Amino acid sequence: MDEQCRFCEIIKGKRKADFVYEDDDLVVFKDIRPAAPIHLLIVPRKHIRSINDLTEEDQGILEKMFLKARDIARDTGIADSGYKIHVNVERGGGQVIFHLHMHLFGGWKDRPHHI
Ligand code: AMP
Ligand code: ZN
Repeated sequence: MDEQCRFCEIIKGKRKADFVYEDDDLVVFKDIRPAAPIHLLIVPRKHIRSINDLTEEDQGILEKMFLKARDIARDTGIADSGYKIHVNVERGGGQVIFHLHMHLFGGWKDRPHHI
């Protein structure tokens, strides 16, 4: 737990979020400023700053995140129309919250969409 971390606060229930899924390893909640009709954040419970900071101990967490994104895409009905999985790494990569997370974007009706 990083006391300054907004996503740790959400995970600990100290800050509200609109959860769509949680288990022992991951939580999934809606992005507060959606950039697509469906915009979810897939977040490991463990505070890991970014992909750069993954260690041996974190083996398998990215696979769990990808597979959960796949499951949620299927369950929310966007699997066939298509979706994007996006991870920002550090400031130059657009990361703003320094707790590892994956964006799941989808739900566009019309055409291939670029974010
Ligand atoms: P990133 O640029 O990858 O670090 O993305 C951080 C994302 O977190 C942004 O898309 C924000 O809109 C989102 N965000 C920030 N604060 C919250 C919050 N309290 N609840 C849900 N999403 C948030
Ligand atoms: Zn954190």
